[in-house]
Amino acid sequence: MEQQIPMVDLRAHFAPLRAEILEGVGEILDQAGFILGAHGRSLEAELSEYLGVAHGVGCASGTDALLLALRALDIGPGDEVIVPTFTFIATAEAVRYVGATPVFADVDAEYFCVTAESVAPLISKRTRAIIPVHLYGQPAPMPELLQLAEQHGIPLIEDMAQAIGARFNDQRVGSFGRLACVSFFPSKNLGGAGDGGMVFTQDEALATRLRGLRNHGSWQTYEHEVLGYNSRLDEIQALILRKLFRQMDEYNAGRRRAAGLYDAALQDLSLQVPMRRAGAEHVFHQYTIQIDERDALRARLHAEKIGCGVYYPIPCHQQRAFADLAPSHCPVAERLKERVLSLPMFPELSSAQVERIAGVIRAHLQGG
Ligand SMILES: *Cc1c(COP(=O)(O)O)cnc(C)c1O
Repeated sequence: MEQQIPMVDLRAHFAPLRAEILEGVGEILDQAGFILGAHGRSLEAELSEYLGVAHGVGCASGTDALLLALRALDIGPGDEVIVPTFTFIATAEAVRYVGATPVFADVDAEYFCVTAESVAPLISKRTRAIIPVHLYGQPAPMPELLQLAEQHGIPLIEDMAQAIGARFNDQRVGSFGRLACVSFFPSKNLGGAGDGGMVFTQDEALATRLRGLRNHGSWQTYEHEVLGYNSRLDEIQALILRKLFRQMDEYNAGRRRAAGLYDAALQDLSLQVPMRRAGAEHVFHQYTIQIDERDALRARLHAEKIGCGVYYPIPCHQQRAFADLAPSHCPVAERLKERVLSLPMFPELSSAQVERIAGVIRAHLQGG
């Protein structure tokens, strides 16, 4: 019986750091400082320096990072925010949380991201922000989106939940927008042992505002200027993330290596391997192929105990949770949802595993 190959292998990922993490957790227990402490501040400093931005503000999740970013910009009822329809629902959910209206932009079929062309027609007098998502680890087309945003005086919030470490024109994603939001959900490229997130910005006033909003709208103990949230990154999580961050570039290189192996193994088959945007460095949160009759291949892989997943089977504009919004026209996303299939992807994926996955795909396509 062939071994199963999971979508992600978090046990393999954490194993080499296990002893070090447990030791660090022991120190935190000894000191009993659990919330808003030195590890959290150090992680904020280390990640913002890495990205080339001035400030990082830790919070409880990637979803909260988006929520806090929108609140920091004072976006609320009556405002519109343009988001891709082809993304994890959190991008649009956060817009709803602040009482604003998500307006769904279609993506392109090559890179799975919004473009200036898909966003421009949606801009109205009420548009208060645009949230491009660097989907699957590939940078969105930032220069054209920035140019469009500047023309209209609208801030960009980067949703970099899937793309920490990715670069575009030698600049890290997360340093293009007015604000940028990352998630530390365990399966993300920098994923902890639980939930967490961070907001990045160059703007000191926004950073100060974010620090209060994440802590009940309080900038002075027990003084509450506005209603905020309980959304902090705890010390144990920050410690674990600092340990993982030291190796993050290697993890991302491992993902790129695995992607190269897939490319070579799948190149002559009748499917579309992921495109790389010129000038961009992809970090392969997912390795996502496009293929006709996708569901048959998915069933075959599952039968062979090979993990795979469809991200995302329902674009946001077709989700029941948004059924009360005006209908959107997003034909590319509606086609992609039938064609995309993400294959196992993690830094430790071996060439033997890639060979086996590719062999199953080849046999399936050749009717074997
Ligand atoms: C994971 C993810 C989020 C939300 O992050 P959480 O930490 O799970 O709340 C937001 N946007 C995108 C694109 C994501 O992939």
